[in-house]
Amino acid sequence: LEHQLTQSQKMEAIGTLTGGIAHDFNNILTAIIGYSTMMQVQLEEGHPLQGKVSEILRASERAANLTRSLLAYSRKQVTNPAPVGLNAILVNLEVMLRRLIPEHIEVRIQVEDGELSVLADSGQIEQVIMNLAVNARDAMAGGGILSISTNRIMLDQDFISAHGYGVPGSYALITVADTGVGMDEKTKDRIFEPFFTTKEPGKGTGLGLAMVYGIVKQHSGFINCYSEVGHGTVFRLYFPLIDLPAPSENITVDDSVHGGE
Ligand code: ADP
Repeated sequence: LEHQLTQSQKMEAIGTLTGGIAHDFNNILTAIIGYSTMMQVQLEEGHPLQGKVSEILRASERAANLTRSLLAYSRKQVTNPAPVGLNAILVNLEVMLRRLIPEHIEVRIQVEDGELSVLADSGQIEQVIMNLAVNARDAMAGGGILSISTNRIMLDQDFISAHGYGVPGSYALITVADTGVGMDEKTKDRIFEPFFTTKEPGKGTGLGLAMVYGIVKQHSGFINCYSEVGHGTVFRLYFPLIDLPAPSENITVDDSVHGGE
């Protein structure tokens, strides 16, 4: 428990710091992108500086993408939460997932019966699943199985106390599991830190899981990682379920209650 709290306090501090830097950096980038766009427009066609200005713009756009990831991590990004069904999101993603994952990796998707409604930004939930899937793919260069599933689960006070925040109740559980290389404890302790990566330079930014962490927290959710070297990794994500009135049923129940009074 002590370790969990220290870890979450550490993440909190990193989040505040990165959020501040990303925010200021974003303002600087806005100026760079703005002025180079103006230059591009003002330079005559075929001017020798055209190519260089394009390079500046391209690099700045890349930097802007990075700051966007950082802002998502630090929970300062604007979100549009709405009631969404996690199963629907997953089913919609399936085509893209299968395109992303090479043939030698088997993709298994299994969703819980009935829709799991959560208050979320669907684009961010998609991003979370894609980031986890990309990591799973990278961990299974020699092939394996990627399983993604959803479940309904009750989280009790013990679970909540162990995490130090949140409320007990019904949650949607998304499990993303791979049979890849796994991680040792030292790696696992740092995976949610921005810029932590064990991938070759140019292959990883170390922002994928930092983003996942930020998004899950922003949705009042939890994320746990279980991993074993040589066997694989399991990520479990919990999001608070919302009770969407199941149209016809609810009306019947209400009527009978009123009738009995
Ligand atoms: P990146 O993928 O750019 O390295 P991430 O934040 O997504 O950044 O991941 C950080 C690190 O966590 C990875 O470099 C890798 O060492 C480890 N990791 C993440 N997911 C997995 C996984 N499914 N299996 C093994 N290691 C993983």
